[in-house]
Amino acid sequence: MESLTRIRTLTTWNGSQTGHAVWAEEAQDAPAPALRGRVLFTDLDGTLLDADTYRYDAARPALDQLRERSIPVIICTGKTRAEVEPLRAELGNHDPFIIENGGALYIPEGYFKVPLPGSSSRDGYRVIEMGVPYPRLRHALRRIEEQVGVSLVGFADMTVEDIVKVTGLAHCDAERARQREYDEPFLIKNSPMALQMTLQEVREAAQRLGLTVMSNGRFFHLVGGTDKGRACRVLIDCYHKERGAISTAGIGDSPSDIPMFKVVNWPFLVERPGGGHAEGFEVEGLTRVPGIGPAGWAEAVKKLLRPIPFQHGPFIVQPLPPFMC
Ligand SMILES: [Mg+2]
Repeated sequence: MESLTRIRTLTTWNGSQTGHAVWAEEAQDAPAPALRGRVLFTDLDGTLLDADTYRYDAARPALDQLRERSIPVIICTGKTRAEVEPLRAELGNHDPFIIENGGALYIPEGYFKVPLPGSSSRDGYRVIEMGVPYPRLRHALRRIEEQVGVSLVGFADMTVEDIVKVTGLAHCDAERARQREYDEPFLIKNSPMALQMTLQEVREAAQRLGLTVMSNGRFFHLVGGTDKGRACRVLIDCYHKERGAISTAGIGDSPSDIPMFKVVNWPFLVERPGGGHAEGFEVEGLTRVPGIGPAGWAEAVKKLLRPIPFQHGPFIVQPLPPFMC
């Protein structure tokens, strides 16, 4: 049994040679071995969660498989901490998480033994803040609005009922979505015809203020000083220091996930509502998996865990340059 388990470990998610697949299949009834050197990052909206219903039924078996193998699932989302915490509790997820498009990392106290420079203690977490505080973003949104001469409607300008109407979130979830700290989602009040040109002007005005505008689903997002990739990088460095060589994967659905895709070894893009993948960008090693949202998520995990080695994309983990911890 020991050798089968070892072989199975060798033939999953590490790009090792084919030839052991039969052994691995025979070992299917063996307890899933813990894969300590693997870390999975995931977007939520439109990826693990269905873009309209926010359900993740199709991904449940894949989540169970990851849990059986003790593979950390790092939520990396534009959502707020208030939105992520109930979902983590529901999933039984005890891993670190990244909120508001890289605005901050929340690491459960004691999760890593390595020191976490730049972190502070808050409600049972070590928190590493990377984004620009929300009041500054709100102020900047008004300045951009003046400069471009277009109406920009941020979350703070909307009532909870407005947010429910636009997002389809339940009332309590919309309230949680409004508790923002590092990222202001906004809509541009303009005709669809003029939107692209206006968006370009908004982006340029934000850039002059040292901020960035990202497109992510229904809203544009005003953020500063960070992105999902920078936050993932900090965590990857922590895992690397604590566990040695690691292999990382990331699953997303939109251009806001590109920074995350660029820092993981195995990036996966799921299909969007209506079918088809987000277009207009290329990332080295990106695998476009079939399946919308959580169905695509399950496909990506299947590819990562299947006994026959997954041959696409890089698998050799390069030591990361030191970042923050
Ligand atoms: Mg998404």
